[in-house]
Formats: sequence, structure tokens, C-alpha cells
Amino acid sequence: MKKIAVVGTGYVGLVTGVALSEVGHEVTCIDIDEAKVARMQRGESPIYEPGLDDVMKRNIDAGRLHFTTNHNEGFTGKEVIYIAVGTPEREDGTADLQYVDQVAVDIASHVKQDVVVVTKSTVPVGTNDYILRTIKEHLTNGVAVSIVSNPEFLREGNAVYDAFNGDRIVVGADDKWAGDMIEEINKPFNIPVYRTDVRSAEMIKYASNAFLATKISFINEIANICEKLGANIEDVSAGMGMDGRIGHQFLRAGIGYGGSCFPKDTKALTQIASYVDHNFELLNSVIRVNNYQHHILPEKAKKVMDTLKGKRVALLGLAFKPNTDDMRESPAITMSEELLLAGAEVVGYDPIAMDNARKTMPEGVSYVGSVEEALTGADAAFLVTDWDEFKALDLSVFREKMAQPLVFDGRNCYGLDQAAEAGLDYYSIGRAPVV
Ligand code: NAD
Repeated sequence: MKKIAVVGTGYVGLVTGVALSEVGHEVTCIDIDEAKVARMQRGESPIYEPGLDDVMKRNIDAGRLHFTTNHNEGFTGKEVIYIAVGTPEREDGTADLQYVDQVAVDIASHVKQDVVVVTKSTVPVGTNDYILRTIKEHLTNGVAVSIVSNPEFLREGNAVYDAFNGDRIVVGADDKWAGDMIEEINKPFNIPVYRTDVRSAEMIKYASNAFLATKISFINEIANICEKLGANIEDVSAGMGMDGRIGHQFLRAGIGYGGSCFPKDTKALTQIASYVDHNFELLNSVIRVNNYQHHILPEKAKKVMDTLKGKRVALLGLAFKPNTDDMRESPAITMSEELLLAGAEVVGYDPIAMDNARKTMPEGVSYVGSVEEALTGADAAFLVTDWDEFKALDLSVFREKMAQPLVFDGRNCYGLDQAAEAGLDYYSIGRAPVV
């Protein structure tokens, strides 16, 4: 079992650190956010991720999982350091590497023994070479450093499950011994390991996200065409997905992808391509289709309702997808901006993401603590996130609570018959309206 440091305790770093400790490694997680570290030291997860608290507590109690804000302390005696800090989007769409840069300098300043650095963060092709150069430039002693690209594929909301049941672990190493060490560390997970070189591993991550985003934009375009032709997208995608070459996953029409990865990674990949004079036309279209899709519910509402001015609109769901509290790039944000601009009164409810929503949603949105409160007196309801709570609703609540039972469903949560039986005026994605 290895002594490991994980730098950055967001969705990726914390889950990585917790999972590595669960299989027996001794792990210290380092973060610069003191409040976060204090919470984790008390055994509380600072993010909502089903099952995380329990595994975390178990390993803290077993003495295998530690948290600190001190890089020097965290790196002491460690043979492997994972980088899991954010690589957010800069205004021009490129990946912002300032946090990765800082970690490289921190590693160089504090390591006192040979170490393998493992990059979990999603970084543009060539970045691992650059990280290694930066570390070597700043090293003041003669320790040996090698680097491995080990991109992360977890899904927020399923991160703990994915850590133990992922489809593959990609290990990109130009030094065979360093790759062997990371493969060995991951052996207890019993997940297939795919070995490759560093640059190919970096590209696997971007290409995978770009491909999934492409599937989403593809089915959304088909949905928009279905709507005009009188076909039903739910039947179309079910029939398509039965083809094993296509598959059912990521074939659900909706209001477009959001979150902390797809939007930034698709944009970053078009930039990476442009550096080598390649215009990634397909991916540019995927991004354009997605941007359009974020506006589709407000656009429908503007057509159906004479005006949105002074109308109360209930947003059911604010997180970018169910089972997470992550609000980054949630369609709820663009949607609210558009509704507020049109003069609507916007009231939001989410089962889990309310705290983060208050920090990220546009000013002017108000919040309530339940579906019923959100719907009370509303002129329209928008289903933004397909939380189980909303899918399981007794649809009579819309008639009972709303000023008029007008529902715009961005996630096709209900069957058309169900909506008709409940007496709703129901507009969904890629299906005929129920009026
Ligand atoms: P995050 O923003 O949730 O967390 C990053 C953490 O790093 C923060 O807690 C921050 O305080 C900390 N940090 C920043 N600089 C630091 C430093 N110098 N030392 C110690 N800690 C520092 O990020 P995330 O969502 O976990 O994503 C991390 C990386 O993984 C990104 O590159 C992302 O693209 C990639 N990724 C994310 C997901 C996902 O679902 N969130 C999935 C796969 C890959």
C-alpha cells in the first residue's frame, strides 16, 4: 500500500482520496480552502455526493485518511502526489491552468523524496509535459520526479459508485515504471486499466467528453425536428438506442448539457485543435446547438403565453443534473436570466442545490423550500432538473396549486397521457404539446 497525497478536494480530489484510502492506501488530502478542510477534518463532506460521507468517516476513523491546508505537511513521506485542482474556463474558452501551475511550484518547493505526480485534472494535451518541466525548473534538490496522466471519468451524483465500478482507468505514462506504479495502486479497484502515453491519455479525456456532448446535441436536434414533424422523440431515441452500435445512454433529449465539465471541455478542445490549425467544425456545432437548447423553454413560454411580464414562473430543479448540488453552467442560470429580462417573477426550488444556487443564480430569483410552495400561484412551471422527487409527483399538484396548470418540461419527466389525464397544458421536448 502506498503513501499518497491528493491536492484539491473538489468532486474529483475528495472522491479520489476517499476511494484510495478505502482500498487501503494512506492518503492525505490537501486544499487551500481552510473552511473546507476544517469540515473534512470533522468528517463532513463539503460536497453533496451520495454515499461519500460514510466512506469518508470510515477511513478517517481507521487512520488512513487525513486532511490539511499545509502542502509541506501533506507531501512529507509521500511516494505519489495526485493533482486534482480545478481547470476552469478562461474567457476565451481555453483552460485556466493557474491552479495546476501553483501545485507544480508547491510540489517543487516541498518534496524531499522521489515522487510520481499523477494528473487527475482535465488538462490540454501537452500540459503534463509542461507540469513536469515546471516542477524540474523549481526543484532545489536532486529528487527524481516522473509524471502520469490519469484522467477522471466520474459522473457527479454517482461519483462514489463510479470510483469503484468505472468502465476503465486510463494510465498515460512515458516512464514505464511510473505507469506500473499507478496501475499497481489501482489494482484493488478491479477496473480494467488502459495503458498509453501521456498525450494520448490527455486526449482520451477531452475526446470522450466531446463525444458524449455530441450525442446530446445530436438527439436534441433530432428532438427539435421531431417536434415540427409530429414524431415523438422518446419513441425515436428508444428505437435508436436498441441498436447496440448506438446505445441508450446520452440519448435523452432535453434542454442541453451543463455542469463543470462538458461546456468547458468542449470549448477547450476546439481551442486545442485551433493551436494546430484545425477547425473542429463538428464540435463547434455541438456547442452552438447546446447554447440554443438552453433557451428553448423560455422561447416556448414566450410563444404560448402572451407575455411573461409580471408572470410568476416556478423553476423545479436548479442543479445542472439530479443527485448533485453542483450549479456550474446549469441551464437554470441562462433560463432565469432570460425570464427575468422578459419581466417574469422567478421562483426556484431544488431538493439539494439551494445553497449553491443562491450563490450562482442571477439576482432577482427568489427561493422556496418545496415544490408546493414554488407552484402556489404560479402562471407557469418549468421542469429544469429531472430529480426523482419531480418525476414521482402526483400531477394533480399542478392544477391544485398553480394559477393555471401550464407546464414546460425540459426533461420529459411525464408521459403525454399522464399530462393529459392530469389536465395540464404541457409542453415538453421533441413531442407534441398537450393542450
Ligand atoms: P473543484 O473546483 O470542485 O475543486 C478544486 C479544488 O482545488 C478546490 O477545493 C480548491 O480549493 C482546490 N485548490 C485550488 N488550488 C489549490 C492548491 N494550490 N492546493 C490545494 N488545493 C487547491 O474541481 P472538480 O470539479 O473536482 O474538478 C477538478 C478537475 O477534475 C478539473 O480539471 C475538472 O475538469 C476535472 N474533472 C471533473 C469532474 C467533475 O465531475 N467535477 C469529472 C472529471 C474530471
